[in-house]
Amino acid sequence: MVHNFNAGPSILPKEVFQQAAEAVLNYNNSGLSILEIGHRTATFQAVMDEVRALVRELMLLDDQHEVLFLHGGASTQFMQVPMNLLDEKETAAYADTGVWGIKAIKEAKLFGKVEVVCSGKESNYTIIPKDFAVPNDAAYFHITTNNTIYGSQWQKIPNTSIPLVGDMSSDIFSRVIDFNSFDLIYAGAQKNMGPAGVNLVVVNKNILGKIKRAIPTIMDYRNHIKEGSMMNTPPVFAVYVCMLTLRWLKALGGVAAVEKLNQAKAACLYKEIDENPLFTGTVIKEDRSNMNVCFVMNDPSLEETFLSFTKERNIVGIKGHRLVGGFRASLYNALPLSSVDVLVNTMKEFALTHA
Ligand SMILES: *Cc1c(COP(=O)(O)O)cnc(C)c1O
Repeated sequence: MVHNFNAGPSILPKEVFQQAAEAVLNYNNSGLSILEIGHRTATFQAVMDEVRALVRELMLLDDQHEVLFLHGGASTQFMQVPMNLLDEKETAAYADTGVWGIKAIKEAKLFGKVEVVCSGKESNYTIIPKDFAVPNDAAYFHITTNNTIYGSQWQKIPNTSIPLVGDMSSDIFSRVIDFNSFDLIYAGAQKNMGPAGVNLVVVNKNILGKIKRAIPTIMDYRNHIKEGSMMNTPPVFAVYVCMLTLRWLKALGGVAAVEKLNQAKAACLYKEIDENPLFTGTVIKEDRSNMNVCFVMNDPSLEETFLSFTKERNIVGIKGHRLVGGFRASLYNALPLSSVDVLVNTMKEFALTHA
């Protein structure tokens, strides 16, 4: 068995792959592949209806929030959010907690003004900023709830009087939060929900239609709401696999149940990082992510040797992002606790001979 700690695209439940493979060959005994039926058929409409209903149910969304599955990755949303919410003369507030936030800021500046209200830059993004003020006349406040590259996570979602926007690409459906406190949530599917190529967008419909800009048809959230995420051909296979993953999550007991598992996995790995004399966690304890665990070796010259040592034990995907170095173990929903045990035991074993 391979222990898959990849950061994205990343692990999905084995049974989801099994069902998806069957659907490619013969969808529900129809003699047709899921890839060769029209998206306007009753068959595919049922998939779109179910996946949207599952999101609504798992996130406990109220009636003001709409669920959309849109083309492109989270990077498309860096542009689509300000295009829909930010007028040219207005200001949007952004938190800078690393690369993804910075990329979102860059795109927003194409549409209006941006005020960066807090930044973790001075501490190399090893913290989530605290004690900052968000101007209450800004169009919205944007945060990246989990910083995939650095392994930091907002443990407390900020309270704002203005619309709150969250890039949840790497911690969507991983923990209980009041999703209704966000006015817009977006997530590329490939970290915790499905294959690459589709975005989940959850939007409070009351914040739309407030700006003067003419929005291209395909970029306007209101058109997608009107057409039930079927304005043009959706990425049908990606949407279908998201549906299978969310069915799996529901059967597991939903977000609260998976959060318990995620906490157990993260606690197990952080404990080893803190106890093992060879390793150090890169993020301050209170801001550590339960999804992406980043750590370095106290003696960096051992890193290559440790990496080969883990490869021999079928551990894959733990090389850190080039900006942080060291290691990053991503513990997404589908990763079993047993894989974390294997990694922890490998670290212990390595310390026996190298500490
Ligand atoms: C991966 C990631 C992105 C970029 O996603 P794409 O689908 O590649 O555009 C954006 N934000 C966060 C937090 C991510 O983890």
